[in-house]
Amino acid sequence: MQPFDYVKPNDLSEVVQLLSQAKGQAKLLAGGTDLLISMTGGGMNPELLIDIKGVPEMAGLEFKAAQGMRLGAAVTMAELAADSDVRKYYPMLAEACEAIGSPAIRNRATLGGNLCHGSPGADTAPALICYDAMCTIIGEKGERIVPLSEFFADRMQTILAPAETLVSLTLAAPVADSAGVYQMFRQGRGGYITLVSVAVHVDYSEENPWAWRIALGSAAPTPIRCRAAEDILRGSRPKSPQIEQAASLARADARPTDDFRASASYRSFLVEVLARRGIEETSARLARGIE
Ligand SMILES: Cc1cc2nc3c(=O)[nH]c(=O)nc-3n(C[C@H](O)[C@H](O)[C@H](O)COP(=O)(O)OP(=O)(O)OC[C@H]3O[C@@H](n4cnc5c(N)ncnc54)[C@H](O)[C@@H]3O)c2cc1C
Repeated sequence: MQPFDYVKPNDLSEVVQLLSQAKGQAKLLAGGTDLLISMTGGGMNPELLIDIKGVPEMAGLEFKAAQGMRLGAAVTMAELAADSDVRKYYPMLAEACEAIGSPAIRNRATLGGNLCHGSPGADTAPALICYDAMCTIIGEKGERIVPLSEFFADRMQTILAPAETLVSLTLAAPVADSAGVYQMFRQGRGGYITLVSVAVHVDYSEENPWAWRIALGSAAPTPIRCRAAEDILRGSRPKSPQIEQAASLARADARPTDDFRASASYRSFLVEVLARRGIEETSARLARGIE
């Protein structure tokens, strides 16, 4: 590892100023569980690390029934998994956070780090996309708000400019009648490497009955939303042929690649199986609540 400077700012304006002065030579340090691996073996050599763990604007979780939930980008997986509002209103996110790494990793790893690393397998991303997460981003030119479904640019790349910071995420207000299932197919020692993940969520209201969201992880260069599959299911409780069709549309959206963990065709197969199971289970859970 090359030598670097370290600084711990006290607020967000200091972070913006430091990043802008560094002209692309600085990296934000959150939990460090991805960054330090990139710095020890991945060829990343920043001149400056800016520790964001003490920045108040990036901390905390706040739920308001009518507005939804604000998640600070520097909250840890352990904080998210333990939060009573996340568990009650956004359960797929709690499930995803609970399954990340080990207790030691979850106590360091942050939500912002998980998303900004840009991995297609970031476990929080599919659930957050289903909850219509919006990203608040700040940089030299001010603030911008972007849907999480548009945050990922390519494999290991986000839309963030080098001097931009992800400050927080806002999740849509929960609908009283809703259900969701997050499934990960895992492999590896300790089973911590996700081969494919599928999040399925449905909201039910008089105006918008059976409104679906389906998102995939590790199935394309970025996490993706499957709009064609959602559209086929919309409006009423889906029957078997519709579920089969939606699962096969989700598979068609996937663009997995071969790697040493699994072939692309195996990953495509997994998407279809997990999507079908997710839709069936989500449908049954919502029906139990409303019928
Ligand atoms: C043993 C092990 C097991 C793991 N298991 C899983 C798993 O099961 N599922 C999973 O998804 N991941 C897993 N990971 C990956 C990692 O722990 C997560 O991606 C974690 O959430 C990263 O967060 P961090 O706070 O440690 O990020 P860091 O390493 O601090 O940062 C990651 C990147 O994001 C940038 N960054 C961080 N915060 C911001 C911000 N707010 N704005 C802009 N840029 C920012 C950093 O500069 C850096 O480039 C595992 C890692 C290890 C080592």
